[in-house]
Amino acid sequence: MQNTQWSATSENLDQDCHNWSGGVRFRPSRVAVPSSEEDVAALVRTAARQGRTIRPIGSAHTSSELFVTDDILVSQANLRGMREYDARHHRATVGSGSELTHLSKELQAAGLTLSNFGDVATQTVGGAIGTGTHGSGRELYNLSMMLVGGRLVTAKGEIRTFHVEEEPDFVRALRVSFGTLGILTWATLQLEPLHDLHRQEWCLAFEPCMEALERLAQENRNFDFYWYPRSDEVKLRCINPPGEEKDYGAFARLAKDEIGLPHEVIPQHSDLPYRFEEMEYSLPAEAGPACLRKLRARLRERWRRLVGWRLLYRYIKGDDTWLSEAYGRDSVSISLHQNASLPYWDFFLDLEPIFREHSGRPHWAKKHSLRAAELRPLYPMWDPFLALRQEMDPEGRFLTPYLRGLLGC
Ligand SMILES: Cc1cc2nc3c(=O)[nH]c(=O)nc-3n(C[C@H](O)[C@H](O)[C@H](O)COP(=O)(O)OP(=O)(O)OC[C@H]3O[C@@H](n4cnc5c(N)ncnc54)[C@H](O)[C@@H]3O)c2cc1C
Repeated sequence: MQNTQWSATSENLDQDCHNWSGGVRFRPSRVAVPSSEEDVAALVRTAARQGRTIRPIGSAHTSSELFVTDDILVSQANLRGMREYDARHHRATVGSGSELTHLSKELQAAGLTLSNFGDVATQTVGGAIGTGTHGSGRELYNLSMMLVGGRLVTAKGEIRTFHVEEEPDFVRALRVSFGTLGILTWATLQLEPLHDLHRQEWCLAFEPCMEALERLAQENRNFDFYWYPRSDEVKLRCINPPGEEKDYGAFARLAKDEIGLPHEVIPQHSDLPYRFEEMEYSLPAEAGPACLRKLRARLRERWRRLVGWRLLYRYIKGDDTWLSEAYGRDSVSISLHQNASLPYWDFFLDLEPIFREHSGRPHWAKKHSLRAAELRPLYPMWDPFLALRQEMDPEGRFLTPYLRGLLGC
């Protein structure tokens, strides 16, 4: 598996696979790269006959074990690109294996754009949606909320079409289900008309940032900030429609200023030359500042010499996706980073209880230590999700030992 993007074009046997950071390694018995949706369905039917299990994979950016398997791994790399679009309703149907970077250029040609991105755009549609990948902005949902319809290969190897207007609860369950309900083949996405955005980055000390936090979150379309443990400074990332930006020159120093399309100015770290590990939790938005202060104190007291990496503080609008980290609450997410070549678990595990004290929900695709017993109380729709999963996949075709422990099934 390549480091930055799953790019296999032919089937490989006995292949050693690893995720983006290199920290998750495994050896599937078969890596399949079907050339069509019907081939995906045939693969699942054969697996069902043989009593085997299947895990879908996108760009392998996840650093938990969501896609780890010793059985069949299936890539949607051949299901990519835009199939059709509806300019009037700003919707497009795209292959689940489309990498967001490439897809954005196709959408641009159709006058459309995603509303938001994470820090990189190298994820696939299926992977970004399946894990609740998010950017930052008080009024911006995670990327899973783009999914309004599409096609799924079920555990029986049948192709099921769905649409949010016809089956709202099914879509609420499917959006964040990390490949445990089926394999998404084509996704219909709710998009926006193409527009420019103005990105400005401002540097200042920690306390003035915290004093202005409420105002900063309110005044900017996209807003988040990094806190740097060693300098105790922060970098604000403020992104707005041109003409709607604010001038923070009175208390901060302008460090970056650029205008471009959303996919040009929101994701900025797609080609990182180094690798990192990350733990991220989402909390009720009102708990964010207190949680950050506790994390900061602990990091300065115990980890300052070992960890120079920044913390990232972001906003996600509350939604109704059953297993979304932002289910039922406007959220703040805080992530810890550490260089992938350095020890990180002791650092993450030492700070994880602070997230949990603040009702944190872990990012499905990043490092955390929670299993079903701890996760279930965090998600009001946990049991309905499991009931639906059982009904759709009674034989556990899409399960692995890790997922059984994660979900408790
Ligand atoms: C450098 C870097 C930056 C990141 N930045 C952010 C960020 O800003 N915000 C954020 O929230 N996250 C971020 N992440 C996490 C990342 O967005 C998630 O790990 C996302 O799932 C990656 O997409 P992927 O295509 O690599 O999916 P994978 O990691 O390959 O798969 C993720 C999950 O989706 C499932 N899946 C994949 N394709 C399908 C399909 N077609 N049908 C059904 N299930 C499928 C897989 O089985 C797996 O469970 C970042 C990760 C890295 C490494």
